[in-house]
Amino acid sequence: MGFSTIAIHAGQEPDPTTGAVSVPIYQTSTYAQEGLGKHKGFEYARTQNPTRLALERNIAALEGAQFGFAFASGMAGIDAVLRLVQAGEHVIVSDNTYGGTFRLFDRILKNYGIEFSFVDTSDAGNVEAAIRPNTRMLYVETPTNPVMIVTDLQAVADVAHSVGARVVCDNTFLSPYLQRPLEFGVDIVVHSTTKYLNGHSDGIGGVVVLNDEKDAESLAFIQNSVGAILSPFDSWLVLRGTKTLTLRMEQHDRAGRTVAAFLEEHPKVEKLYYPGSLSHRQHELAKRQQRGFGGMVAFDVGSLERARTVLESVQLCTLAESLGGVETLISHPATMTHASVLPETRSRLGITDGLVRISVGIEDVEDILADLDQALAKI
Ligand SMILES: *Cc1c(COP(=O)(O)O)cnc(C)c1O
Repeated sequence: MGFSTIAIHAGQEPDPTTGAVSVPIYQTSTYAQEGLGKHKGFEYARTQNPTRLALERNIAALEGAQFGFAFASGMAGIDAVLRLVQAGEHVIVSDNTYGGTFRLFDRILKNYGIEFSFVDTSDAGNVEAAIRPNTRMLYVETPTNPVMIVTDLQAVADVAHSVGARVVCDNTFLSPYLQRPLEFGVDIVVHSTTKYLNGHSDGIGGVVVLNDEKDAESLAFIQNSVGAILSPFDSWLVLRGTKTLTLRMEQHDRAGRTVAAFLEEHPKVEKLYYPGSLSHRQHELAKRQQRGFGGMVAFDVGSLERARTVLESVQLCTLAESLGGVETLISHPATMTHASVLPETRSRLGITDGLVRISVGIEDVEDILADLDQALAKI
């Protein structure tokens, strides 16, 4: 079956009791049992909920995975995955990972005896060089936020697997429509559903999908024990989102290309960060590994003052953190999403004061261009 058919149908048979075509929001904490030890597979809603289950099956199918687990946020999902490693074990991580992920690893999990090495995973040699005898996991994000560095998933997965380490990929930036990491040897995919999967900027959530039965059993145990589950209503919202994932991603991708081409030609733009551009040093890799380039575009206008002018002059684009919604969002990584990153690390990663990031929405692209054009003209 094709991707769109899976998006609309996987995990979602019409409701057996009423025939409801949309999976109902099972707003219940518990389920009546027919007798001692006799129930319909649902006992208590932290452990199982039919709406959440439908979403978990849906996203697992979209990623080509067997098992899925939905969490109250992307961070809760990432935290659950990291509980697969033990104190005294070592994890290699993409150095420019999402700020919240860096904070979780460096400020919290490190204190529980898990070792982390942050390396530039766009060079598989760096991953190989970081391996220790106790390395158990490689955690990558591709493309990275906001400077769009691409990691060759198959190359780093081969390196990690040579020492028996699991490979985890945060696929939030592209969604399974544009990239399916399991096809390149990745073992576990995580998403902040808050972004493209939900797609409408109206819910926080996370999901983890995988094929390994033993790890899936562990994750089910962790999800139930810790309890950071996605609510029935939020599960329903994400299910509603994935039904139009194909249409939305096609348009995000198309509009992203148009906006990037406009910015690349614009005299006020000093540098463009967009893997879809022929000038991106990893364009060929991105083309091979991704089905498209998505809606994330970053560009440098040279200084904080100039960036401020653009960010405060836009009218249609909304100045806000987050990404992946139907509306175009514009942000300033250095003072917003990456404010907690040390200034010297920021500059090493290319996150300068003049850098502006856009999550290109699905409005008419002419309107987005006109807005950016008038804002850039104010520099
Ligand atoms: C937003 C985001 C997260 C965290 O997700 P939340 O839903 O905000 O907890 C993780 N990774 C990436 C790439 C993100 O963009």
